[in-house]
Amino acid sequence: MERYSDPGLALFDLATHYVVACPKCAGKAWVKPRGEGQKLVCTICFHTEIPGNWYGSATAYVSVKCRECHEPLQRNAPWNGQWKKLAMHCPQCGDTCEYEAHITRHARHEGLMTDAVYGLPLWLQAEFRGELFWAFHYEHLEILRQYIAAKHRERGITPRNTLKKNSAMLSRLPAFITRAGNRDALLKMIQELFLK
Ligand SMILES: [Zn+2]
Ligand SMILES: [Zn+2]
Repeated sequence: MERYSDPGLALFDLATHYVVACPKCAGKAWVKPRGEGQKLVCTICFHTEIPGNWYGSATAYVSVKCRECHEPLQRNAPWNGQWKKLAMHCPQCGDTCEYEAHITRHARHEGLMTDAVYGLPLWLQAEFRGELFWAFHYEHLEILRQYIAAKHRERGITPRNTLKKNSAMLSRLPAFITRAGNRDALLKMIQELFLK
């Protein structure tokens, strides 16, 4: 029987590096840890890339008053990862002008979970009974494997863990991961992901 003591890891603590699909060849690529500049290195085509491009989905949002007549203007548009301005047309006075947009980057793109640096699809993800299972990297996958494999789960009780208790990643997992009936099928799928 396996026991699992929650190490109190928040998801943020795990989002330091990633395994993703290469933007050039779709093969397995590493996004290095923050301390190493988060450089992307592909294991297949050897493409490397420093952060700058955003491949995921994002929304540009402008909320301003028209520069001519002060009419409030608002507009949302999908962001293509380059221009940070949106053209705004004022229906009241007819003025057209570009305004600086706020950019919101989305975690998912075309139904897949992406990394936070490049917005590329995570390598370790799979659909499970209509839900999406994913991990940032193999260590994250291993934590999930241990958690799911454990028949008895207990919260870490050292002071360090108590502090982080409310943000603990494991306490926020979606229900399909913690459901006992999914346990064996999930573990089988995780074993397959480890071989990717
Ligand atoms: Zn590649
Ligand atoms: Zn106007």
